[in-house]
Amino acid sequence: MALRFHNTLTRSQEEFRPLDPAGQKVRLYCCGPTVYNYAHIGNLRTMVFFDLVRRHLEIRGFHPQHVMNITDVEDKIIRTVQESGEPLSLLTRRFEAAFFEDLDLLGCKHPHESPRATEHIPQIIAFIEKLEKKGVAYKTQDGSVYFSIEKFPCYGKLSRLDLNQLKPGARVSQDEYARETYGDFALWKAHTERDGNIFWESPWGRGRPGWHIECSCMSMQHLGETIDIHCGGEDLIFPHHEDEIAQSEAATGKPFVRYWLHSAHLLVNGEKMSKTAGNFFTLRDLIEKGFTGREIRYALGSVHYRLPLNFTLEGLHAARQALHRLEEWADRLHACCAKTQAASSGGLLAGFLEALDDDLNISEALGSLFQIRRETSGQMDRNELSAGKAAELWQDWKQIEQLLGLPDNPAQEAPADVTALAEKRLAARKAKDWKQSDELRVEIQTKGWTVKDTPEGYKLTRA
Ligand code: AMP
Ligand code: ZN
Repeated sequence: MALRFHNTLTRSQEEFRPLDPAGQKVRLYCCGPTVYNYAHIGNLRTMVFFDLVRRHLEIRGFHPQHVMNITDVEDKIIRTVQESGEPLSLLTRRFEAAFFEDLDLLGCKHPHESPRATEHIPQIIAFIEKLEKKGVAYKTQDGSVYFSIEKFPCYGKLSRLDLNQLKPGARVSQDEYARETYGDFALWKAHTERDGNIFWESPWGRGRPGWHIECSCMSMQHLGETIDIHCGGEDLIFPHHEDEIAQSEAATGKPFVRYWLHSAHLLVNGEKMSKTAGNFFTLRDLIEKGFTGREIRYALGSVHYRLPLNFTLEGLHAARQALHRLEEWADRLHACCAKTQAASSGGLLAGFLEALDDDLNISEALGSLFQIRRETSGQMDRNELSAGKAAELWQDWKQIEQLLGLPDNPAQEAPADVTALAEKRLAARKAKDWKQSDELRVEIQTKGWTVKDTPEGYKLTRA
C-alpha cells in the first residue's frame, strides 16, 4: 500500500504524492526551536517525530530536502536577554549549539538547512512590503505592521475556527496568543523600551519581525512558494500555522503547504510539558539520572505521533527494558547466524515499513517486531532457527535500528575490578569450572554490569 499521512488541513488520511514531477524530491519544512533555554523533552519528542518523517521518506526512496528554522528573536528571547544581560547573539548561539547536541544525543539527523530569523531580516521586510502592496497589511501609528485577517477570507481553515462564533480581538501584538484573542496579528513590531538594543531599521522605522512571518519567509526562500510537508507540534496549529497560511497565500495566491502534519504533546500528569508551567525535564536532566540517549530516543519515538505521550520515569524504565529485550534478542540472532551472510530480507523489515506507511503507525510496527522476537526466541531456545534465517532477521533489525534513529550508547568502559572479574570468569570457563563461572557472573551483576559471551569473547555492558 502507498505511503499515507494524516493531513491536519483535511482531517483525513491522504496518499502522499510529492509535487516533484519525478516523484522523488520532497520539500519538508519543520518549525524549529526558540533558542533561549535548553529544549525540554516535549520539544524533543517533536524533533524525534520530524526525524522519523524524514527517515521513513528516505527509506521509501524519496529525497527530502529538510529545512528547520531557528527562532532567534521573539518575545521570550527578548525578555531573557533583558533579564540576564547576555547579548542576544551570544544567548541564542549558546542554546542553538545545545539544541544540536541534543539532536545528536537522540540520533536525530540535522536538517539540510537551519536558517536563523535574524539572518533573514531584509527578506522578511520585503515580504511584509509585498503584503502591504496587496492591501492585506497595514501600518499602525506606532510604526508596527499588522496582517488584516478580514482580507483573507479563508482565515481559520487549518484550525477550523468559526469566526462567527468568536469575538474578534482588536489586534494581537504578542507572538503567542490563545484562540480567544484572535485578531489581526503583528508582522513587524515597532521598537519599544522593553526591546533595548534589539531592533533593525525598516521602512516603518526601528523594530523587529513578529514570530509567524519568519516561517513563511524562510520556507519560501529555501523550498519555494508551495511545499510538500510542513510539520510541527499541535500547539502550533493556532495561531502560528494559521497565520503562516494567511501571510503566504495572500502573498503568492498559491497553496502554501500540501500536507500539514502535527504531533501530539508530551504530557506530565495530563498537562502539556512546558517551560512556562515549569513541569519539564531537559535531556541533560535524564542523562544525569543515568538514562542514555538511545533509551530516551526509544521512549519518545515508540508512541504514535498523533497520540499524547504521558511522561513518567517509570515509563522511561519500561522503555529501557523493552529496548533491552530487543537488544538481547538481536545479540542472540547475531550469535546464531555466526558468519552466515543474509541471502535476502527476513520479511521483518517489510512488515515494519508497511506499518509505518500507514501514517507512521509505530505502535503497529513495534507490535510486529515484538511478535517476531517472541516467535524466533522460542525457535532459538529449541535450536530450530537456521543460521540463514537468523542472518536475515539480524540484517532487518539493523535497518530498523537505523530507521528508529537509535544512536549507539556511548561506549562505557567497565572499571578495572569488573574487568578483572570477567577475566577470572573466562579462565574458569576455559577450565570448565561452570560453578565458579556462574558465581563470578553474579558478582559482576552485583557491581552493575552484565557479562555476555560472544563468538569474539566476553562483552561487558551496563546492567
Ligand atoms: P519552541 O521551542 O517552544 O518554539 O517549540 C519547538 C517545538 O516543540 C514546536 O514544534 C512545539 O510545537 C513543540 N513542543 C512544545 N511543547 C511541546 C510538548 N509538551 N510536547 C511536544 N511538543 C512540544
Ligand atoms: Zn514556524
